[in-house]
Amino acid sequence: MNIYITLDYEIYFGENPGTVEKCIIQPTAELIRIAEKHDVRFSFFVDSGFILKLEEYKKKFPQLEKDYTTVVEQVQYLSKTGHDIQLHIHPHWEDSYYNGESWVINTSRYKLADFNEEQIQDIVYRYKKVLVDITGKTIFTYRAGGWCLQPFSKLLNAFKQAEIRTDSSVFRNGFYFSEQYNYDFRGAPDKDCYRFEEDPVKEVENGYFTELPISEIRNSPLFFWRLFLLGRWNPYLHKPLGDGRAMAAPGQRKKLLTQYTNNTVSVDGYNAHLLQTSLKRMIKRKKKHMVVIGHPKALSRYSILKLEQFVESNKSIHPFTTYTQEFLTRP
Ligand SMILES: [Zn+2]
Repeated sequence: MNIYITLDYEIYFGENPGTVEKCIIQPTAELIRIAEKHDVRFSFFVDSGFILKLEEYKKKFPQLEKDYTTVVEQVQYLSKTGHDIQLHIHPHWEDSYYNGESWVINTSRYKLADFNEEQIQDIVYRYKKVLVDITGKTIFTYRAGGWCLQPFSKLLNAFKQAEIRTDSSVFRNGFYFSEQYNYDFRGAPDKDCYRFEEDPVKEVENGYFTELPISEIRNSPLFFWRLFLLGRWNPYLHKPLGDGRAMAAPGQRKKLLTQYTNNTVSVDGYNAHLLQTSLKRMIKRKKKHMVVIGHPKALSRYSILKLEQFVESNKSIHPFTTYTQEFLTRP
């Protein structure tokens, strides 16, 4: 099994976005520690719109200089030491700004598809370019912010022009709908890798794009009761390391606590509890690629322990690999 530990590298987008230090730098330093101790590599989907905003606003507000420098230096360090840096787009940065004290985040246009095709092209070009400039490497894989990848037909030309050929946003049977954001991955092929063209949940042989879906898991409501209660009982171990608040997802909490739901295999918080079980299931189903999602900001002391155990017990059996290692040289 090729195991990809993938992290969406970003601050929060709710009312309190949190600090760069606690949401990004410190938890990522923990990941670096694990990677170096066990000689494995991870993939980071960097929210590069944030870097562009820091670059823009640090001229006017010198207090942002440190945030900008630490993020850029950490991304450079990750890239230099063999971790993958790939593209993560949260286009709401286009409408957000720094007011001298904090970020004022406007998520009224949260999805890339909320912009017109010309704007999408410009966003994809700039958000990718800044990562190429920082790392000097090829950026060719995408993960959509909030999994909002649809309708993909509207994004297709921009991605082709920017030579983004691989996507890793889909998780089979995932579905969510709210006014601000939505995704519908119901009906995606039961495959751990496939080609597509205009619709990321529809396989097209020899399509331009390759989908490497995030591995999926079906959780019982009991799992989320445990997750929420553990956070209260033992915050030291289970509280997220990030110090901000997530954007509201209306109805989501109730849904998780009352019915079976399709989710991603994740290293965030208590989800890391299921890493080993998920791997076993995937081996049984003869899968070749296991893609685990996570966010530095949502890691907890517990999930860091669990991730390290997972790496330690599997590193000599399964390669911990990256998109660049597996797909960059593909014809
Ligand atoms: Zn994100």
